[in-house]
Amino acid sequence: LLEIGHDLGAALMTARALEGERQLVRELQQLDDHRTQLIATLSHELRTPLTVISGNLELLGELSLDDLAAHLQQAMTRGTRRMQKVVDDLLLLAQVSDPQHPLQQVPVDLGEVVQEVCSLVETTARAKRLRLDVDLAPGPLLVAGDPAELDRLIGNLVSNAVKYTPEGGTVSVTTSRRGESLVVRVSDDGLGISEEDQIGLFRPFFRTSNPDALLHPGTGLGLAIVATIIERHGGAVEVDSRLGRGTTFTVVLPADGVPVAVPAGAVRSS
Ligand code: ADP
Repeated sequence: LLEIGHDLGAALMTARALEGERQLVRELQQLDDHRTQLIATLSHELRTPLTVISGNLELLGELSLDDLAAHLQQAMTRGTRRMQKVVDDLLLLAQVSDPQHPLQQVPVDLGEVVQEVCSLVETTARAKRLRLDVDLAPGPLLVAGDPAELDRLIGNLVSNAVKYTPEGGTVSVTTSRRGESLVVRVSDDGLGISEEDQIGLFRPFFRTSNPDALLHPGTGLGLAIVATIIERHGGAVEVDSRLGRGTTFTVVLPADGVPVAVPAGAVRSS
């Protein structure tokens, strides 16, 4: 009887510890939800006054200003644009991170998304004398997902490749099928990312320590948005990069709702 009592006591303690853990998980989840909600509300509230400021600055720019006033107007316009970009990215990140935010699921052709994104960056790439190679798998590559989010996902990766590749380099984007999955690969022979920096790459506000990369303006939110959108779509992303040599991001998405072979949401560096 003493032994049974001992076993029961131990089982009770385990049960209490488990309940405690569940409670802790629930509380952490609630805190995380509050955090996401707070970010969404704040960014939403900041958007309207920022639109008013930038509209007025634009009007100011049309007046005939002396040199100093024109200089101040331009500096304020640049600062406001930067703030708008941070606020827009934060709002988007909060939206796609919110489990209550429904995922629109319509058939989207990844090939079309890649073509659209690449035509948008063409001018910037040409100005930097970059070679932009696009190699699409034949036929439609259909994913069940949100067109705007998928556009943003590919757009962020391609514009990063263009941004972080010095003049005369090459950026290539390819699509392919891998079993039941679809693959988009965005490669560049640009700055590359060190092994230490690859660890934090998908965290919000993360920017690498590479001084050459820091010369380019950025919010550090682009890849956090990329990772969250991929996770929402049941996909995975892998990074292969060497400092000074270049970077390849490989995104695997389920073909029209079929789960991908790699663990969902996996974010890996190799
Ligand atoms: P940012 O707005 O700073 O570009 P991201 O979240 O898109 O933010 O990227 C985070 C950091 O990762 C960047 O600051 C940059 O240092 C690095 N990075 C992203 N893509 C590349 C790339 N293709 N080549 C080299 N570095 C990259």
